[in-house]
Amino acid sequence: MILIQHLTFSYGDGTFRLRIPELTFESGRSTVIVGPSGSGKTTLLNLIAGILPGAGGEVNVGEFKVHGLDENARRLFRLRNVGQVFQDFQLIDYLNVLDNVLLPCRIHPSVSVTKQLRERGRSLLQSVEMSAFEHRSVTQLSQGERQRVAICRALLLSPRIVLADEPTGNLDPVNAERIVELLLSETERSGATLIMVTHDHSLLKYFDRVIPFEQFLERRGVDKASGGAS
Ligand code: ADP
Ligand code: MG
Repeated sequence: MILIQHLTFSYGDGTFRLRIPELTFESGRSTVIVGPSGSGKTTLLNLIAGILPGAGGEVNVGEFKVHGLDENARRLFRLRNVGQVFQDFQLIDYLNVLDNVLLPCRIHPSVSVTKQLRERGRSLLQSVEMSAFEHRSVTQLSQGERQRVAICRALLLSPRIVLADEPTGNLDPVNAERIVELLLSETERSGATLIMVTHDHSLLKYFDRVIPFEQFLERRGVDKASGGAS
């Protein structure tokens, strides 16, 4: 279970402040987060993943007190437990498609590229119809194709927690549904917890739970309401 309590966070200039009194995500359940652009959805995912150090309060992920870990421990926690689909993909330009999918093996402290993992990478690419692009440079892909590579990479090691930040943002409706199906079936199969952020309300029905995010936004000075896609 992910348990967030009395969490407060702000970036340097203090114009944005996230405050979450309490929020839980049950293990093995799927949750979708919706909310206006700039309301802190990406920030929350990065706090759960341990990319951002917490400012106040607690982020408990299973037995890990992520808020209390130093940078190195947060990195190890993330490598071992979290698969993240970043809003901006964060693919490595000098690696081809398959090597981007296999990247978690290369940076993981105790996993290496095996025949089985290579096969799993290929099969994930096949499930998003990207097999033909396996050896292509990711710089030669469309945004939607890049997004599908990022999703395969996040799922490769069957992490306990999958955080997907607007993973269908660049996809047509058919591919968007396919991706959500893949995220849900893969996380159900491995018993993982899935948290996805989206602006696409047609996808909400597939999830166990929907969290409207604007409830956590504290406005200070600047009014950030926009409602547009980020
Ligand atoms: P969302 O994902 O809901 O669109 P974000 O979590 O990306 O929102 O951002 C929340 C707010 O924090 C926004 O106002 C954004 O401009 C600001 N913000 C995001 N990243 C940074 C950063 N690295 N430094 C300062 N402000 C940031
Ligand atoms: Mg975002």
